[in-house]
Amino acid sequence: MHHLVIGNSIAGIEAAITLRRRDPAARITVVSAESDHPFARTALMYVFCGQLRHEDTEFYDRGLYERMKFERVRARVVSVQPGEHAVTLDDGRTLNYDRLLLAVGSAARRLPMPGAYDDPPVHHFVTRKDYEALDAAAKPGKRAAVIGGGLIGVEVAEVLHQRGLKVHWLVREPWTWPVALDPKEAGVVEEHVRHEGVDVRTAAAVNGMTRGAALTLDVNGEALEVDLVVGAIGVVPNTGFLANSGILLARDGSIETGDDLQSTSSPDVFAAGDCACVTWADGARRPETLWYTGRDQGRAAAAAMVGDSVKYRRGTWYNSAKFFDLEYTTAGFVPISDTAGRKHPGGGHWQTWFQKHPTEAATLRIILKDDRVVGFNALGRRWSTDVWLRWVHERRSLAFVLANLAESTFDEEFMAPFPVLPTATLEEGA
Ligand SMILES: Cc1cc2nc3c(=O)[nH]c(=O)nc-3n(C[C@H](O)[C@H](O)[C@H](O)COP(=O)(O)OP(=O)(O)OC[C@H]3O[C@@H](n4cnc5c(N)ncnc54)[C@H](O)[C@@H]3O)c2cc1C
Repeated sequence: MHHLVIGNSIAGIEAAITLRRRDPAARITVVSAESDHPFARTALMYVFCGQLRHEDTEFYDRGLYERMKFERVRARVVSVQPGEHAVTLDDGRTLNYDRLLLAVGSAARRLPMPGAYDDPPVHHFVTRKDYEALDAAAKPGKRAAVIGGGLIGVEVAEVLHQRGLKVHWLVREPWTWPVALDPKEAGVVEEHVRHEGVDVRTAAAVNGMTRGAALTLDVNGEALEVDLVVGAIGVVPNTGFLANSGILLARDGSIETGDDLQSTSSPDVFAAGDCACVTWADGARRPETLWYTGRDQGRAAAAAMVGDSVKYRRGTWYNSAKFFDLEYTTAGFVPISDTAGRKHPGGGHWQTWFQKHPTEAATLRIILKDDRVVGFNALGRRWSTDVWLRWVHERRSLAFVLANLAESTFDEEFMAPFPVLPTATLEEGA
């Protein structure tokens, strides 16, 4: 049996390890265009800041391939022929397989405005190559525009600011990181980041850019001169090379998979990680672009590849991040806030409890459905998602959660409890 894994990041490498454990005699080949050794792109910002060396982001030791008897191929796959069970590499070679795993992840979404890719083109911050180009260009004292209000945008704004560039963070939406934050939470982030010295502009549409002595952006009709631009408007699945393969792709380019992560169109082809279109808890179908879900999908896909009966379903949502020293923690179901105000996401009685800390840049939002707590969203403090998820599963009331909040404080011994004050609000909708 020859298992061929394309991509050696979290989804691909976890799949390869699972395959080896399950099938000691199998031939396992891992193809990667990016690096010899798997590394955590989630930690690229710490390398940029000089806090880690690139080697420190490698999440397995360098003896892994040899120990696991993985064959390493450093090349880019340019096409797949599922009918022939074969892939073609950019060096002209062909590799055959019995089972193929596509764990090809995602790349930066390209900026749509005119002039973005004229010479010198805008930067991104997703791949190692992106990192190297930005690292070379970002000299202290230069002026940078970061376009995009999400997590990668704020991380890039932070590392450039930390390096001594003058940073303009340009967010098209009315508030920052709208898929995760509501306007009140975003207000706390914006105030905090401005206080650090970054020029934060919301409702800032970049209509185009021209090059002369400097790069001039048209932002809402006004000129903004900078030395470099970073596009951080999300990611797209790395699946362009599958266009003529017959492998079924969703509208966003991700690979359509069944519950067992097998391609819905091509037997013996599986997908995992950022490039796989999967079913979410609410029934929606799209990729889960998270590190830990990449790990879980890689393991599940490998089990399916060796013939197990697999039904991949992610557990209840949780996530955490940190930017400009501001913690972000979420767990359970937190609907995306709408510019039109709070809404009822579906049937049932939805409510939102919210409180801002009186003196710290910290907030806590609790979502209720039919008087039971279903989700948490917090800034500024570090919380235990384990405890929050347990409370969601136990269908706890708001009164119970507020009375026991200290139990979910991550640094319980070192911090004053998050105060529950009469100024907290309980609004209809979520
Ligand atoms: C800056 C940044 C910060 C992030 N922070 C977080 C975070 O805090 N928490 C979190 O959960 N997630 C975070 N993410 C997202 C997380 O990194 C991804 O969800 C995760 O890396 C996806 O893993 P993957 O294995 O699916 O694919 P990827 O990590 O995208 O890797 C895919 C690999 O496949 C290779 N490949 C692609 N096409 C081909 C081809 N044709 N031939 C050969 N090889 C190919 C690529 O070169 C790459 O090495 C962050 C992402 C970025 C960019």
